[in-house]
Amino acid sequence: MNILVTGGAGYIGSHVVKQLLETTSYTIVVLDNLSTGSHQTLDSLGKVRDFKFIELDLKEFDSVNMILKENNIDTILHFAASIVVPESVENPLKYYLNNTVNTTNLINCAVENKVNKFIFSSTAAVYGEPTYLPLNGVDEEFLTKPINPYGMSKLMSEKVLEDTAKACSDFKYIIFRYFNVAGADVNYEDEQLKPRIGQSFPNATHLIKIASECACGKREKMAIFGNDFNTKDGTGVRDYIHVDDLANAHIKAMEYLENNSSDVFNIGYGQGYSVKEVIETMQTVTSVKFTVNSAPRRAGDPAALISDNTKIKTKMNWKPKYNNLELICKSSFEWEKR
Ligand code: UDP
Repeated sequence: MNILVTGGAGYIGSHVVKQLLETTSYTIVVLDNLSTGSHQTLDSLGKVRDFKFIELDLKEFDSVNMILKENNIDTILHFAASIVVPESVENPLKYYLNNTVNTTNLINCAVENKVNKFIFSSTAAVYGEPTYLPLNGVDEEFLTKPINPYGMSKLMSEKVLEDTAKACSDFKYIIFRYFNVAGADVNYEDEQLKPRIGQSFPNATHLIKIASECACGKREKMAIFGNDFNTKDGTGVRDYIHVDDLANAHIKAMEYLENNSSDVFNIGYGQGYSVKEVIETMQTVTSVKFTVNSAPRRAGDPAALISDNTKIKTKMNWKPKYNNLELICKSSFEWEKR
């Protein structure tokens, strides 16, 4: 198989490329504009085995078409996207262009070049701010009602995929709706499992990344955004998933599509941790008691968002290996130190 990975130098894409290089003999072509991905990540991946890298922005439609043709691509894993929620509110057009328009074009190129499998990174942000949290978490049938342009740009891309697959019988897709992805490379090549790749994107806003920056001394202190939610300890609850478990689902999805039809899957552990629990875990595993203040709620933050992951576990037989908040925090911290 010849596989194109867009955004393969970025955080999640690089973990998928790593697993493809380690566990398959497929030909891998990585396409990335390096706006947030890095050469260092590509260098680390190159030590696993050879792959082709093309520096290109997806808005170069003609070049994307040529790349699919010349490399005889049969599967696309599409990670390249803009992902900062507040930025999407300030600059919605950037999100509709980078995410929805570029994805639509990529799907168009895929159909023209008879690429018949398309794996798409979507997000739990398509569910918006649920007015209630079902007992077993949010399942794939739950109302999709994004509350920001980022979530909407992804939901619109989902619709383009669904409608295209309905009209083209040879074209199949898997949509993954990611919950809170965190942690870094579990590296079995190293005795202490020190990560080779991780999240390098500057100006992080995500909780576990910020807590690891505090534990490393890169950041002096952090704040808990809201302690008056209707949750176990008043702070926001989320479903944190290790990036290597998430990556593995993408490899399984390619096999799954051989004998099954297109589908959408939530991906999370189906288990919620509060902000306080995450910070305490980071402080325990690193033995660093950094300063934590209180701050008002962040606009648009739901009290709790937890996945119902029954579908991916039963239909795709996905078996997570790293469902362990300590490991997620520790690997994130080890990466931050590097
Ligand atoms: N959060 C926090 N302080 C921070 C960053 C995040 O209290 O510095 C909280 C945030 O309000 C939410 C949870 O941590 O309840 C997860 O936020 P994150 O940005 O990691 O992911 P989101 O769920 O917003 O996509």
